[in-house]
Amino acid sequence: MSKIKIVCGKCTKAFNEQHSKIPGGLSVICPACAQPIVFEGNSEDLNARKALIAARRFRLEARAAQIS
Ligand SMILES: [Zn+2]
Repeated sequence: MSKIKIVCGKCTKAFNEQHSKIPGGLSVICPACAQPIVFEGNSEDLNARKALIAARRFRLEARAAQIS
């Protein structure tokens, strides 16, 4: 599983995005309403923050899996 579920804060539609496309400070365009969703640690958008945390956790787990 390499995709992160993102919920758009504008239209509340959920979609999946590659975790590698969600580093801090970047944004993705919602496929449903074409609004940019910015991924910043201090974002006021709770959904964007959740996706950023999920992407970070995924990368940590992927790294742990490589080590073991
Ligand atoms: Zn949207």
